[in-house]
Amino acid sequence: RFIAFEGGEGMGKSTQAQLLAEALAARGITVVLTREPGGTPGAEAIRELLLHPPGDGWTREAEALLFAAARSDHVARRILPAIEVGQWVVCDRFLDSSRAYQGIAGALGDDRVLALHEVGSHGIKPDLTLVFDAPAASVSARLAARDGDETDAIGGRTAEYHASVNAAFLDFARQEPERFRVIDGTGSIEQVHERVMSAIDGYFES
Ligand code: C5P
Repeated sequence: RFIAFEGGEGMGKSTQAQLLAEALAARGITVVLTREPGGTPGAEAIRELLLHPPGDGWTREAEALLFAAARSDHVARRILPAIEVGQWVVCDRFLDSSRAYQGIAGALGDDRVLALHEVGSHGIKPDLTLVFDAPAASVSARLAARDGDETDAIGGRTAEYHASVNAAFLDFARQEPERFRVIDGTGSIEQVHERVMSAIDGYFES
C-alpha cells in the first residue's frame, strides 16, 4: 500500500508522515517512510540541486525534469521494491506536488507533468493521497517558527504562487475523490494525527 502526503509549505506533512509510520509500525506493519524530492542517494543529490540551484537557477522545464528524474530513481529503487514485498510506503510528497508546483503554479501544465511522470515512473499513483489544508495565516506562523521567516526552501516564490499551489491540491482532490482525502491541518499535532488515522482506517477498511 502506497500513501502520499501532500500540501503546501508548513502544513505539518512531514511530522504527520512520521507519526503515521510510527503508528503503523506499532500495529506490526513494515513501513518505508520516505520523501520527495529524495528517498534514494541519487534523488537526494538531485534534491540538493533543486533546493540550492547553481547560478541563475533552472528553466521551468529543466526543474520539472529534475523532479521527474529524482522520482524515477526513487520509484524504481525504493518504492516499487517495497510494494512488491508487501510493505507499506508512506511518502512525504509525490506526483501531485509536481502537478501543483510545476504544473499549475509554475504554469508548465498538468499534461506535461503527467507525461514526464509516465516516462520516468510508469505513471504509478499512490493508493491514497492525503492533502493537508490550513488557512494561509496559520501556515505563515508555523513557517516563521520553523525557519525564522516566511519563505520556502526554494525561495523567490510569491504568496500568489503558494496560494495557487494550495488551490491546485484541493482541485486534484475534487477531481479524484476516491484517491484523495483532505485533512484539516489546523489544531494540535495530536488532533491532526487523529484525523490522519481515521482517514487511513476508513480508507483501507472499506
Ligand atoms: O516538502 P519539503 O519542504 O521537503 O519540500 C522542499 C521544497 O521543495 C519546498 O520548498 C517545496 O516548495 C519544494 N517543492 C517544489 N516542487 C515539488 C516538490 C517540492 O517546489 N514538486
